[in-house]
This record gives sequence, C-alpha cells and structure tokens, in this order.
Amino acid sequence: MSSLKDLFDKNQGWSERISQQDPDFFPTLAAQQAPQYLWIGCSDSRVPANEIVDLLPGELFVHRNVSNLVVHSDMNCLSVLQFAVEVLKVRHVMVVGHYGCGGVRASMDTRRHGLIDNWLSHIRDVYHQYRDLIGPWQDTAVQNDRLCELNVIEQAHNVCNTTIVQDAWDRGQPLTVHGWVYTLTNGKLTDLDFCVSGRDEIDPELDRAVSRVARVMRG
Ligand SMILES: [Zn+2]
Repeated sequence: MSSLKDLFDKNQGWSERISQQDPDFFPTLAAQQAPQYLWIGCSDSRVPANEIVDLLPGELFVHRNVSNLVVHSDMNCLSVLQFAVEVLKVRHVMVVGHYGCGGVRASMDTRRHGLIDNWLSHIRDVYHQYRDLIGPWQDTAVQNDRLCELNVIEQAHNVCNTTIVQDAWDRGQPLTVHGWVYTLTNGKLTDLDFCVSGRDEIDPELDRAVSRVARVMRG
C-alpha cells in the first residue's frame, strides 16, 4: 500500500518552515479563524485559491466545485455560504472562474461525459440564455472565454439571490458579491465588473457586466 510518503515529507517541511517563521502561527490559527473573504472557485488544480491572492491559511474561506457553480438547491455550496456569511461574517464573496475551464468547454460539446453532464447542464443553461451573444461567433476558443465570463456573472448573480445574502443585506450586514476570472497563462485575475453590495444593485450590475462581455464580443 502506498503511503504517499513524499506528501507527508512535504507537509513536514512546510509545517516546520511556517513554525520557524512564526512560532505562534499554528496555535493562533487553531484558536480561531476570521477570514474576510469567501472564494467560490473551480476545482481545477491550476487555480489554487490562497496562492492566487497570496493569502495565508485562515484568511480565505473556500468552496470549490467543477466550474464554480452556485446552484440554487446545492446544499453543499449553500451551507458554506451560510456559515461564511452568518457565522464568520465575511465581507466579500467572490465567484472566480477561469479561462480554459474544462467544465465550460465540455458543456459546449455534444459528446457524452457521464454523470457530470447533469452538473454541466447548469452552464448549458447560461449558454442558452446568452445564445444571441455567444452563438454567432465562430471561433470556439472565443466562445469558451465569453461563456467562462458569463458563467461567473450568472453564478455571482445566483449568490445575490440566495436567502442567505438577501437576509444579510436586510439586517444591514456589509457584504459585497464579486465576479472575477483568472487567466491560467499569466496568473492574473480580472474583475468582470459585477460588484453588488445591496439588493438595488443586482440588476444594474448584471446589465453592466453583461454589457462588458458584449463589448468584448464586438471587439
Ligand atoms: Zn475549471
């Protein structure tokens, strides 16, 4: 049986390195976590949340799934959101997609991929919603990039429409929902101009973010 010794060795080295830099780091972290941010991102191994924004353990609460979806009835994602907003009282929720997302690409081809096609249907719904925007474009790579962006915008929009976020705003709790996309080839994040801090901002910000994608589409 493999014990994956190399990973345990790496863990040992990492733990010792951190403890040498700051002997109080792990004891302090074990006592409490007070992250300001909830990151909802893709499971893709090339998009590691903490590293991208250069934050330490304890600074970012994270939920990841294939293609960073926020499905209205997904108890896993909603439970993370509820805990982050109501218990940890994070100030920001960011939905972070990435260009070259395999889930987004798979959602657009006609081949069967098994069970995951049911999950990817949520991205297909986004495609159908914005078919007029994406459809006429012939270049598949460009279509994929725009669908990655529109998927983020729609999932961030879904976050805003949860009872969890709406209740927080009704209580007067400061909370902002963002839509970002990550570029694998240069490690940079781009803000997709969806930034909502209250109920009244949802529709204008959705229009603004989709208009931005439309502008890019028109060149
Ligand atoms: Zn992905």
